[in-house]
Amino acid sequence: PGKKTARAKRAAARPRPDGELGVAILSRNPRLYSTRRLVEAATALGHAPRVLDTLRCNMVLARDRPRIFYLGEEVVASDVHVVIPRIGASITGYGVAVVNQFDLMGVPVLAAATPIGRSRDKLRALQLLSRFGIDIPRTVMCRYREEVPEAVQMVGGLPCIIKLIQGSQGVGVMIANTEVEVRGLLDTLWTLGQEILLQELVAESKGRDVRALVVGDRVVAAMRRTARAGEFRSNIHRGGVAEALELGREYAETAVKAARVMGLEVAGVDMLEARTGPKIMEVNSSPGFEGLEAATGLDIAALYVRHAVDFASTRQSGYASG
Ligand code: ADP
Ligand code: GLU
Repeated sequence: PGKKTARAKRAAARPRPDGELGVAILSRNPRLYSTRRLVEAATALGHAPRVLDTLRCNMVLARDRPRIFYLGEEVVASDVHVVIPRIGASITGYGVAVVNQFDLMGVPVLAAATPIGRSRDKLRALQLLSRFGIDIPRTVMCRYREEVPEAVQMVGGLPCIIKLIQGSQGVGVMIANTEVEVRGLLDTLWTLGQEILLQELVAESKGRDVRALVVGDRVVAAMRRTARAGEFRSNIHRGGVAEALELGREYAETAVKAARVMGLEVAGVDMLEARTGPKIMEVNSSPGFEGLEAATGLDIAALYVRHAVDFASTRQSGYASG
């Protein structure tokens, strides 16, 4: 009840204007499938979308107020009803700063800086998810080679998974079959300055995973991805194939809870189908939805934009509302 009052207050603070709304999509490339689709959907819904190349958003910080300049012109806060961040993994640092700058300017951002940062660090995300009782593959982090045998035992023995903390699209996820392999991989990666996780191989789900797209408080679409022969990673980028999936209740509830815990309004939640139920691998803060639209035939872009606009109408920037 108290929550509702606060929400109502915020709604009053920033009413949803009628008609055309400014929807800013932060994306490096307007030709990317998901970016293009968000623009199409926003236009179809009668709004005024604008793609801003994240790295061309110049942030100006001074005593008076935070500002953003884009190609020589100031971005006026009141022209932007909502920002939809689509921040690629390679520019997380700059992207998070731009998102934060919009937030400081009082513009609602669909994904705030902190949740994006969390989602990009696999260990940080797993720490948070497990803290809230969400099941994850058993994960160990250590930093000395003499700790490796114990670490391997703790994740359930061999074979086990080795992951870079900041990998994406399956790059940086490896499987190790012997202790010599584990040690070799870890030595190499540590030498390269990478932090890594050891993880239980959820063998019954090997080569398969589930992607659920959470928008607001529900899963709007899901698919099962199956790895190509001889590959344990089911990412589409690694040759996996996708099929639409009607998610069971336990899986849907887990996905929504994971997005909530991360603080994300829109999230791509990757889960393994373990004997005991869903185990969450990661929560993606800028989920691509080409595969999901193809597999399900749904207009996911429209659901995404509609939610962004509704969300912004009921929310002021965390900074502006004090
Ligand atoms: P990325 O963020 O690079 O996609 P993920 O952590 O999602 O990395 O892993 C990539 C793929 O590897 C997953 O889609 C899944 O198929 C497989 N995989 C990852 N972790 C495990 C695990 N603990 N057990 C079994 N398979 C896994
Ligand atoms: N690009 C998609 C996403 O992050 C994942 C596709 C894949 O499985 O490689 O949402």
